Amino acid sequence: MAPLVGVLALQGGFDAHLKMLRELGADVREVRVPADLEGLDGLVLPGGESTTMTLGIAREGLAEPLGEIVRTGIPVLGTCAGLIMLDRDHLGLMDIVAKRNAFGRQIRSFEADLDFPDLDAPVHAVFIRAPWIEEHGPGVEVLASVDGHPVAAREGAITVVAFHPELSGERRLHERFLDRVRTRVASR
Ligand code: GLN
Repeated sequence: MAPLVGVLALQGGFDAHLKMLRELGADVREVRVPADLEGLDGLVLPGGESTTMTLGIAREGLAEPLGEIVRTGIPVLGTCAGLIMLDRDHLGLMDIVAKRNAFGRQIRSFEADLDFPDLDAPVHAVFIRAPWIEEHGPGVEVLASVDGHPVAAREGAITVVAFHPELSGERRLHERFLDRVRTRVASR
């Protein structure tokens, strides 16, 4: 059976994630209210605008149920604003502090090729008013950096990237994420 992956769909770039996850064989569900979290095997927090997303999460009463399901250990992938949402100052689910618009407000967008530890060819990364990870705890493994600033990291089942793999045709991060989802489903 295909695993069921939820994508937070209050605001921002959730469509491209849904499309890529579908193409990779997952069943997908848009997450807008707490009931949408029920029975998910994995969760994606997309990019967008973190202030708007924070307001939406508060409005729908999603913070607590989101925290609950993430703490059960389901694989989570956060991109850009999704990285910000997971940090200590927002949902508090990952031991990182994100710095918003870290590359400067005037730099709306740039692209870079990043080496990842477990991928043999570099990841082509599209950054859009991206954050970086300003601080992180000892349990966080940094996967990639730009000019010495972490832009991809992992802690337990949570992986975050400051860029948009779903916009550059980069499928490997979603593939790895789905591998972890499938492994966890199979071990239940
Ligand atoms: N700058 C946005 C924020 O601070 C994030 C940008 C993005 O998700 N592409 O919320």
